[in-house]
Amino acid sequence: MGKKILIVEDEAAIRRILAEPLVCAGYEVAEASDGPEGLEAFRRQEFDLILLDILLPGLDGYAVCGRIRQKSQVPIILLTALDTEDAQIRGFDKLADDYITKPFSIKLVLKRVEALLRRTSPEPAPDWIRCRELTLSETERRVTVSGNEVALTYLEFEILLLLLKNRGRVFTRDELLSLIWGYDFGGGEKGVNFHIMNLRRKLKADLIETVRGVGYKIAKEN
Ligand code: CA
Repeated sequence: MGKKILIVEDEAAIRRILAEPLVCAGYEVAEASDGPEGLEAFRRQEFDLILLDILLPGLDGYAVCGRIRQKSQVPIILLTALDTEDAQIRGFDKLADDYITKPFSIKLVLKRVEALLRRTSPEPAPDWIRCRELTLSETERRVTVSGNEVALTYLEFEILLLLLKNRGRVFTRDELLSLIWGYDFGGGEKGVNFHIMNLRRKLKADLIETVRGVGYKIAKEN
């Protein structure tokens, strides 16, 4: 789903100049032609960003911006026609996130929109589990040691994940075996030892401890 952008601008030609490239760039665009209509659109649905003209009939851009800010932190870019408005705009930059002076190049508008959306809605961070120099992301199935990517087999990854998620707990070879048995038949205890040995070699870190006569664990960090 494309991000939703609301354009509040009274001149139809400018709305069109803005809307078409935004739609082409994959955004969903809604339009409003005056201040009250803009506020109405804002109340009706959620937007990821608002392009807001300042000189508008009904209610000007400053007023619209102020009312939106009472309820929402949605990113707002002000559109201004006059250089003389610059001073006012600067006084307003606490409420708006950015402003663009007309006449503008649509390339610039697209860049500003993109940059602002990136700044205000960062990609969700991967679910990194960290343990000393090692990081593991379950959703991305990636492991790094000291920042270097380590390629693990499916089972090696599963064993490491289990130990990491249960730091401090000792897993018997039987427990690990039942995990492994779900995937490969055979190998027995030697199979467990084999996978642990490979893991240790690949991780180049003595994270996985042997608990004599019981099994393996990754110690809790102090
Ligand atoms: Ca205008």
